[in-house]
Amino acid sequence: MQTLYDLPGLRAALEPMRGAGKLALVPTMGALHDGHMALVEEARRRVGPGGHVAVSIFVNPRQFGPNEDLAAYPRREAADARMLLAAGVDILWMPTAAVMYPAGFATNIAVGGISQGLDGAARPGHFDGVATVVTKLLNQVRPDVAIFGEKDYQQLAVIRRLVADLDMAIEIVGMPTQRAQDGLALSSRNAYLTDEERKAALALPRALGEAARQIEKGASVEAALAKAVATLANHGFGPIDYVTLCDAATLEPMTVLDRPARLLGAAKLGTTRLIDNIAVDPA
Ligand code: AMP
Repeated sequence: MQTLYDLPGLRAALEPMRGAGKLALVPTMGALHDGHMALVEEARRRVGPGGHVAVSIFVNPRQFGPNEDLAAYPRREAADARMLLAAGVDILWMPTAAVMYPAGFATNIAVGGISQGLDGAARPGHFDGVATVVTKLLNQVRPDVAIFGEKDYQQLAVIRRLVADLDMAIEIVGMPTQRAQDGLALSSRNAYLTDEERKAALALPRALGEAARQIEKGASVEAALAKAVATLANHGFGPIDYVTLCDAATLEPMTVLDRPARLLGAAKLGTTRLIDNIAVDPA
């Protein structure tokens, strides 16, 4: 595995790999867990024996709001590198903020529509930061395929829109959310939770799962969502940014389950903001 920190180095390392089978990219912010590693395994599988896998680790300042956890975000580069080496990754791309955003940087990528509700409303500017850095990472690496997690469902939808709109010839693959045995979605931010909060956090996947089952059985969407919100509040979550049923592709809010949908939730538990989502399908 070659670890690169600047663009000339990255380009030189990638050059001999181009044309020699497929190239896959897995963008991350590091503090890797089994959710990230499932993306890496999928990348390996998709490029096959002759292909190559690149993983980026970059904690992107532009996708954090002024009162968010940029400074506290876990950084574990040495352990991350060991995990990626063991997983057979070829390229570890770790640009510094100065490499990504040199003096004079002035471009912003804003994806309309799909990035405006949900986390886009709760975290102003977040998806501009995501879209800008993902555009740069895709241009820097120029992969054939890039893998993202459904854990960040809206992010995946924003990236699909971006890649289609900008005519990027890159296949975007979404991977199912990897969960701890008890059902909590794996997340680098789970490291912030106290033991007590870690137990209470389970209410998020459970409340979403229960609401999804109720809605699939024909219960009123409004009532099922209200019950999920009440369950979260009872377990100490707050503020609750949203618990919403959306069209699975466009993320338009839905009040009746008449097409494939996604139930998405985001709420704070203590100082930690957790998100999760689940498929809801009409019979
Ligand atoms: P992050 O490091 O949090 O920016 O995540 C990097 C990539 O890993 C994103 O595409 C995430 O959606 C994905 N990811 C994070 N957690 C999980 C998980 N529990 N299961 C599947 N993918 C995940």
